[in-house]
Amino acid sequence: MPIDVTTLSKAYEFLSDPTGLVDESGNLLFSNTAFLQIIGDNQTSQSTGSLHDIFLLRQSTTNKWQGVLNEALAQACTVEVMIASKSKQLVCCSLHLTPIVDEGRFICFLARLTDKSVDSLPDESLTTLAYRDSLTGLANRYLFSQLFDHEISQSQRLAKRFAVLFLDLDKFKLVNDSMGHDAGDALLCAVAERLQKSLRKSDLIARMGGDEFAVIMSNIKDTETVSKVCEKLIREVKKPLRSGTNVMEVGCSIGVSIYPDNADTAESLLQHADAAMYRAKHDGGNRFQFFSDALNQELNDIRVVEQELQLGLQENQFVPYFQPVFDLRTNRVVGVECLARWQHPTRGVLAASEFISIAEKQDVIREVFNQVLTKAFEQLDHWTLSLNERIPLSINISNRQFYHHNTFDLIDSLIKQYQVPADAIRIEVTESTLQEAETDLLEHLTRIKTSGFSITLDDFGTGYSSLRYLQQLPVDTLKVDRSFVRNLDNNPHDKIIVKAIIQLAETLGIAVVAEGVESKLQSDFLVQNKCFIMQGYLFSQPLSSDDFETFMKTKSSLTE
Ligand code: C2E
Ligand code: MG
Ligand code: MG
Repeated sequence: MPIDVTTLSKAYEFLSDPTGLVDESGNLLFSNTAFLQIIGDNQTSQSTGSLHDIFLLRQSTTNKWQGVLNEALAQACTVEVMIASKSKQLVCCSLHLTPIVDEGRFICFLARLTDKSVDSLPDESLTTLAYRDSLTGLANRYLFSQLFDHEISQSQRLAKRFAVLFLDLDKFKLVNDSMGHDAGDALLCAVAERLQKSLRKSDLIARMGGDEFAVIMSNIKDTETVSKVCEKLIREVKKPLRSGTNVMEVGCSIGVSIYPDNADTAESLLQHADAAMYRAKHDGGNRFQFFSDALNQELNDIRVVEQELQLGLQENQFVPYFQPVFDLRTNRVVGVECLARWQHPTRGVLAASEFISIAEKQDVIREVFNQVLTKAFEQLDHWTLSLNERIPLSINISNRQFYHHNTFDLIDSLIKQYQVPADAIRIEVTESTLQEAETDLLEHLTRIKTSGFSITLDDFGTGYSSLRYLQQLPVDTLKVDRSFVRNLDNNPHDKIIVKAIIQLAETLGIAVVAEGVESKLQSDFLVQNKCFIMQGYLFSQPLSSDDFETFMKTKSSLTE
């Protein structure tokens, strides 16, 4: 009588050794009670399922079950496996796979388990070293990726969703640099502990390296719950930590992706959570961000910009746009801000916000600046004739450019070449440039001043410049940030802030400009509070050089 799986099952049913039968693809065809007892703590405690779902291969080199099965087909073999229980405790076992062949025909594998924790040496320390982060005791990157695959198989079969959280500490480097590595380590351990306390036992937490952590929240009901958990994590991580006389404080940024909504592979889910985390950090940190298609599109656009920036530079595609600045007392144009634009061959005219920070990162901001500014000066020269007027030009300088002597060498050489008086040039630096200042800030600003340029503090109100600090700096103008102006219509707090900035400027004897003025209500409020100089869509969008010339010829005065 030929042997079949049913006959074999009957034979092994009452065997006290944990035994199962497995087909050539790794699917469990049968498992006896003893076998079930060992994997019993697992959600897949049933006689169906696959080896892949139930066990984790311990050897980091052989992480593919099919490879193991192929080997076992040729000759019986033993592999070290782990079972991830619900509480993410690991049970280590040896799995012996023996092919059962009848008259040259493969029937199935006989799978025998030896529970190592009962049997021979459990070798805990080795397991701990290989799978746990030695500092925090959390799962390490390797274990995380193993359990991640496992989670995907389980969720797929059970039709469940899970969330991947990618968490990165904000300002951790500051703690490490200023208080030393021991303090940094203590902080990482404290964060690990807080994460563990704030999450369910069944959630997997791993330290991915440095100050990065990842979490898998299994079986989530809705994203609202995930949001609440993120808020809680942010609150917990933010709490100050005392170490001796030191008080350490960090924040965290969290990116979230959801299985299967956002992706169905571990790699993509992690990538998406990571991308969302970057967005959260970019938006100021101490916040969380869900991955979305819109974010994906945005990130794709960034990638395209990253790839095409060099070509754009080679093809000289960067040009200046000009936004007029009005004085509402006289209703006349009193200046113009030069804003970089990219005349992209397929995507149209791209605003500075879409490429300036990428150009900074790629360290090509100076090349962009060079193209834009050279063209802007050619225009200025042309307008002195065609408009019979010299309009003061505001030039934006990024943080990096500010400290690079080339920037001012270029401006110096352009004003000489086109015989532009230096006082017709206004240098705009953002408040954050001053905040991240290096020690020679004052020296730099003084150099700009002695060259004859005036200095505007752009995006004012978004940083935290103190009165004393401002008093020391040779700043001529404060430019109220667009975010406050935007909300003047409906946010009483922003009204108070704008009023305070205007008064601050007055106290310091500094001029004040409002940017991003879009409505009559906003401009009325500003005028009432004695801020008369402004720019924004209410008066004009940033314009190409031809359009600006036409604008100046036809509408340069608001009353005309
Ligand atoms: P910024 O200097 O604060 O420029 C104001 C931004 O607000 C500009 O965006 C402008 O197009 C936009 N804007 C002007 N009026 C309105 C309005 O009424 N409503 C709204 N919603 N927006 C308005 P843009 O051109 O994308 O520039 C963004 C930032 O990029 C600038 O902020 C500036 O910091 C930087 N930037 C622009 N051009 C250059 C450049 O040539 N070099 C450097 N280093 N940075 C530049
Ligand atoms: Mg500006
Ligand atoms: Mg601004």
